[in-house]
Amino acid sequence: MTFLFDHSWKRSLPGLFLEQVPDPAPKPGLVVLNEGLARSLGLDVSALQDNGADWFSGARVPPGADPIALAYSGHQFGGFSPVLGDGRAHLLGEFVVDGRRFDLQLKGSGRTPFSRGGDGKAALGPMLREYLISEAMAALGVPTTRCLAVASTGQEILRDTGLLPGAVVARVAASHIRVGSFQFLSARQDTAKLRALLDYTIARHDPDLSPGDALGLFDRVAARQAALIAEWMGLGFVHGVMNTDNMALSGETIDYGPCAFMDAYAPGTVFSSIDRQGRYAYANQPLILGWNLARLAESLLGFFDPDSGRAVDLANERLDQIAPLYEAQWLRVMRRKLGLLGQEPGDLDLAQALLSAMEGQGADWTLTFRRLAQATEGDAPALTGLFGDPAALIGWLPRWRARLAPGAQSRLLAANPAVIARNHKVEEALDAATRGDMAPFFALLAALQSPFVENEAYMLPAPSGFGRYVTFCGT
Ligand code: AMP
Ligand code: MG
Repeated sequence: MTFLFDHSWKRSLPGLFLEQVPDPAPKPGLVVLNEGLARSLGLDVSALQDNGADWFSGARVPPGADPIALAYSGHQFGGFSPVLGDGRAHLLGEFVVDGRRFDLQLKGSGRTPFSRGGDGKAALGPMLREYLISEAMAALGVPTTRCLAVASTGQEILRDTGLLPGAVVARVAASHIRVGSFQFLSARQDTAKLRALLDYTIARHDPDLSPGDALGLFDRVAARQAALIAEWMGLGFVHGVMNTDNMALSGETIDYGPCAFMDAYAPGTVFSSIDRQGRYAYANQPLILGWNLARLAESLLGFFDPDSGRAVDLANERLDQIAPLYEAQWLRVMRRKLGLLGQEPGDLDLAQALLSAMEGQGADWTLTFRRLAQATEGDAPALTGLFGDPAALIGWLPRWRARLAPGAQSRLLAANPAVIARNHKVEEALDAATRGDMAPFFALLAALQSPFVENEAYMLPAPSGFGRYVTFCGT
């Protein structure tokens, strides 16, 4: 047997799921299997190769799986939806590796009672997109859910652009506990179930805390999320849909819908077609971190202190600390990206001054940092050439050089990736895959799995003819 499934969610959290089997796929096919991930999880790769088409497309439930759709709420673009839940996903079960518990979930596997108007399905392109970008994040060392496989269903699904091949992604996550999971029970004022979820989350993610320690859990989640968003910012990653149902208490990046990496540095960068106000723009992500954590604090308030006034004070004290907590994490990331050793008082200002020099100059985020490695000693035309007007950068470089210690060049090359998931390369790979040609996908995947290796074909930003990049949710 491959998976030794356990079902702790079902056992411990009645009221937070519905039993629901995936739709059978008419003509299942295994499009991609993440053999490296499978091996690292101790799974039987040959069993996955033999059965993956059936197991991951929903055609056949793997032995021992007991599929459920999770219930959760969510603030979507600031508006509260009390009932969201898995509208196109099925949690097959959990498995434990070296004491660590993972969820295995299918997404795109059919309708559930949470589907509302949706068809419960997913197209091949977006599922491969989640695979590519989550593998890129994992290779960059960013906490993330992973994709174990993508399977095709053999069913055509209808989207705005016409009929598309249907597919399912099999996702592995440290858990699918979201801020929205707590909101779901809090909105129903179901204190007993909320307490069960609190204790379940503590046991799963922070077992050194005592049961019921909501403040302790909140602090851990805030620390993990602040560190995560700082990593995103360092990479120019725009998540695109930081709704409270897409923020995991594990601290993993989850829900690769409309996300994309920014090319030229511009704080207001937005890719998602529906984010018209720029709520989830690049530079807003740290503010949304605080906003979402405030929603988590509200849901946990009753457990902070029996006295409601005191509970609110405790929550406010913590929420006041989110901005400094995030800033410390951002500075940690920026020191690494600038090749700095140790901590000096001028470091924050030094990092911010580089961003000011980049703004409005069309300077590619990823290449600017990568090419700093060429500028540790003297002129770096490859770096200055990225800037429309490099005057401010040229003024900044000597200040930065004065702060460098020996070995900066190798630190810079180890901290700043050469290859990120460039939007035009992702689109090229997904278009080809949709037409049945997987070669560009596998070539891009290989480049993304070694992001610190210079690879001419994948390093450059989109040519100007590519135009503004727009992404979509729920595809
Ligand atoms: P997301 O924007 O991916 O976080 O999804 C928000 C909500 O919409 C979740 O409850 C999803 O399960 C649901 N959803 C997204 N796409 C579909 C679909 N094609 N069919 C049914 N539900 C969907
Ligand atoms: Mg989601």
